[in-house]
Amino acid sequence: MASSKPDPVSNENNCSKENTNEASGQNCFCLDDLVNVATVGTGTFGRVFLVREKKSRTFYALKQMKIPDVIRLKQEQHVYNEKAVLKEVNHPFLIRLFWTHHDECFLYMLMDYVPGGELFSYLRNRGRFTNATALFYASEIVCAIEYIHSKDIVYRDLKPENILLDREGHIRLTDFGFAKKLSERTWTLCGTPEYLAPEVIQSKGHGRAVDWWALGILIFEMLAGYPPFFDDNPFGIYQKILAGKLDFPRHLDFYVKDVIKKFLVVDRGRRLGNLKNGAEDVKKHKWFKTVDWETVPLRRMKPPIVPKVSHEGDTTNFEAYTNDEWEKEPSVPPRDLEIFSNF
Ligand code: AMP
Repeated sequence: MASSKPDPVSNENNCSKENTNEASGQNCFCLDDLVNVATVGTGTFGRVFLVREKKSRTFYALKQMKIPDVIRLKQEQHVYNEKAVLKEVNHPFLIRLFWTHHDECFLYMLMDYVPGGELFSYLRNRGRFTNATALFYASEIVCAIEYIHSKDIVYRDLKPENILLDREGHIRLTDFGFAKKLSERTWTLCGTPEYLAPEVIQSKGHGRAVDWWALGILIFEMLAGYPPFFDDNPFGIYQKILAGKLDFPRHLDFYVKDVIKKFLVVDRGRRLGNLKNGAEDVKKHKWFKTVDWETVPLRRMKPPIVPKVSHEGDTTNFEAYTNDEWEKEPSVPPRDLEIFSNF
């Protein structure tokens, strides 16, 4: 990891040529100093670019969101949540946010560039993972979720696309667009159909328990190669989630089936991770018996996949994108821009 990076504190828009504003202790970048290298990801209203800062020659990921699309898709609160949450967290398995900015067309978030690509790509390439490989990712994710929850934040979008691998093969969770600081329970319908917990579909309000549900789905998918509840349309998926019937592939280990069943309990009051002892119960489950939990956040567990990364700005682990359809849009009217004045 390049040591020249500033501390992960995001900042408003007062740019200077230096990337650290010593007086305020906050980071300061300028768009003009960031050279676009390649697109590494796309979302409904955003793109993620690999950029390089001219002076330090450090690579970063720059997430750029079109303001009109954010408004049209009613994502204003989500982008604010994403910034607020990323400003608050600091953990080896979570993406770091260095700076935010907006102009008359876009919102920008400058983050670590994580060159290993998405866990999703490795899973699809291999079909499925071995028990030991799934155990490694599940263990790092348990630590990440435990930390996020300790800050009273729910992540709400755990899935293989949002788990990136760093150079050594350790995880970094990205996309905190659905993450939210908890105040009692929270009610919005968001997430990805296959990974939605029953209480989310039923609008019963949802808290930390949704992340443990999603971990159950993820462990199943890593080992089976497909998620436990799937259908051609979201409604079919929702019906299957609520019915809660699990068909395990025959090759699954006894204890992993047990831990998945305990995460995929429809009644969130009886769901593993959401009981009296929280994440401690998860860590004590027999499937995790070989894991030395003290050393996991120290990144001492040996990664089962080490991405091929030839240099810090290598993009070969991401899909290749063209930049054509990502043009500057006409400027946003001042009334709409006002919404993002604090971004
Ligand atoms: P997002 O819009 O945050 O969901 O990001 C879309 C995609 O961009 C992700 O699924 C990743 O493939 C890629 N991506 C996002 N953040 C980063 C990052 N910090 N480093 C490298 N790739 C990223």
